[in-house]
Parts: sequence; C-alpha cells; structure tokens
Amino acid sequence: MENTTQIKPSKCIKDFSYEELKSFIQEIGEPAYRADQIYTDIYSNRRNSFDEFKTIPLNLRNKLSEEFILNSITNHHAQYSSDGTIKFLFDYANGSSVESVMIPKSDEEYEDTMKRMTLCVSSQVGCALDCSFCATGKLKFTRNLTAGEIIDQVLNVERISNIKISNIVFMGMGEPLMNLDNVLKAIDILTNQKAMIISRKRITISTSGIIPKMNELAEVKPPIKLAVSLHATTQDLRKEIMPIAQKWDLSSLRAACENYYRKTKIPVTFEYILFDGINNTDYDANRLAKFVRAFPSKINIIQFHDISFTNPVPQKVDLSPASMEQIDKFVDKLRSLGVNAFLRTSSGFDIDAACGQLAFSKKNDETDNGKSGLIK
Ligand code: SF4
Repeated sequence: MENTTQIKPSKCIKDFSYEELKSFIQEIGEPAYRADQIYTDIYSNRRNSFDEFKTIPLNLRNKLSEEFILNSITNHHAQYSSDGTIKFLFDYANGSSVESVMIPKSDEEYEDTMKRMTLCVSSQVGCALDCSFCATGKLKFTRNLTAGEIIDQVLNVERISNIKISNIVFMGMGEPLMNLDNVLKAIDILTNQKAMIISRKRITISTSGIIPKMNELAEVKPPIKLAVSLHATTQDLRKEIMPIAQKWDLSSLRAACENYYRKTKIPVTFEYILFDGINNTDYDANRLAKFVRAFPSKINIIQFHDISFTNPVPQKVDLSPASMEQIDKFVDKLRSLGVNAFLRTSSGFDIDAACGQLAFSKKNDETDNGKSGLIK
C-alpha cells in the first residue's frame, strides 16, 4: 500500500546564504532573479508564510513549502521588566529552547544619540563550558544552533515586539566561538545588502576565551567587534570560576586579545562581573588595569545575577553579588588608573534575568512567577 504520510520539511530556508539560495533556485530550473525575490520576501517584506510570496509563481511557492520551513521558531514565551528589558524563550521544532534578551540602552560611552535596542542572542542550546556563575552552563550542552535558528531570534523579536533592533551581541546561551561557522554565516546573512537587517559594525561576539577561534576570528573580513569574559585577574581564580581557563591561561588570553586588536584595529571589550569579596579588591583593580591597558580596550563592570535557583554543587569559591557601593568604588578606582571603565547596570532584575534562567526553569518545569505571559 502506498504510504501517503506527508513528510514535513525540517530545513529552514534562512540557513541558506544568498549565493546558496541562488544555486538551489538555478538547480531546480528557475531563473536566478527568483532568489532576489525570495530574499526580499523573507528579509525585507518579512512574510509569514510562503503563500504570501506573491511575486513567486504558485508552483515555486509549493516547491519551497515542500522543501523548507520559513520560521524555525514554533513557540515563544516573554517576560517584561519594568526597565524595558524583554526576555524571550524560543522553542524550535525539534524541542530545543533558547533565550534572547532585548535590552534598551542609554550607554554613557556612546556619543551618538541614536536610541539603542540591543538584542542578546544565543548560539547554542545549553553550553559545555560550565562557568560557575552561569545558569546556562548548568543546562549542559545539547547542540549548536544553525544560522537560520540564530537569524530567527532576531526576526521573531522584531516581529513580536514591533521594535527595530539596533545592536546584536552574541552573549546569550552558549559559547559562540564553539559554533563559529554558523555564527559567521548568520552574521553574513543578517548584514547582507539584500537582507538589510543590521550593520556589521553593530554586532559583537562575546567569548570566554577560546584562543584558536579568537585568532581565526581576527582574520575575518570585514572584522567584527569582540568582547571577552574576563571576570578574574589571577589565573588561580579564573580557573576556579571558568574551567576553560585550565586550557588557556591569562597570558595566552592577553596575547590573543592583543593579536585581535593588531589585526582588526577594533578595541577589545572586556566583561568583568563583580563578586562580593572575590574579585573586587584594589589589587584586582590594579591587575585589571595592567591587563587591559596593554592595547586599546574598554571594560564593562557587570552586576552578578544570583544563580542559586540552579542548586549548583558547592564550589571552592562562593559567589555572591557585590553591592552597588562596591561596584561604584571599583569603577572609580579603575578610572583613576586611566582605564576606560563603564558600569553596566544589570537589566531585567525583576524578571528571570540570569542567562539561562528561563530555559532552566522550563527544563525543570518550575511554576510561573506570575510576571510572564504567552504572547504569541
Ligand atoms: S558564561 Fe558563556 S561560556 Fe560560560 S557557561 Fe555560560 S554560556 Fe557558557
């Protein structure tokens, strides 16, 4: 008996670069300009289904529906903070979930007056690196996201919120340099002139310090801004709170950052979470100043979001948030040492704001805290 079960497509059309889409279109006997029309409908017109691709003939629309899914995200959940931050939990068709966080910014170091709306995107489902201060690390690594799944975080946030994203940071779930090919492909598509979603200058990749991949990224043209999660000024402490430091120490990290600046001429941003009594002494400030002053750079001092809800196994180093008074003092000390230091007041403290918290809550089937809402 003939099996009439319809096989659902699993490949997302946004996984295709413009050139790949053009090749596919030509392979199936269609003229190359159809790729331009399809790209326009996906990225400029933001169509929600292939049926809405009105410039495309019906037989090609049917072919696209048979071969591809248009939106890799099947469901979402959103939490709204009183400070304007919106945190999204996105589900993909295969059951994986990741977070994206939209953060309104009025950063003091930016001279332009353009209102910034930064989207923090995820690059992996979970993360293998297990930094002790991070809820995502407690979820463990499941898989890399595809380029289309990364792009869909941006497009779905803009669709749901009706707000244009001005900046993207790869600082959500996962280590982007462990999924560099897909991250770079997503960036190439998002910045493609035919897609016109965002300027390359407004994208930052953040890493915990994967040295060989930092060196690889330094060769990418046009270059992309790099942020490095530092969080400790001694090798001993960094090894304790960031296991990746056991593989690559602070001096090799500094050399890779120096190389990045030399190759790209873009100052490196350092991220430094301040923990009470752990990394906030004057000695730390002095060591930090020495580390970051070796080449043009700036440093963001960040408040810690407590992750005790993950019930982490007891660590040698007990991490708790530094007070605002301690944070201000530390920033002042760095500035007095000539460092370009900025305070990042943490966004969304009144929602599940720690990176990985929503996904962790979902995985553990915790009850809703009443501030969230399904808004699809
Ligand atoms: S901080 Fe980043 S690299 Fe470390 S566990 Fe979390 S997601 Fe992974």
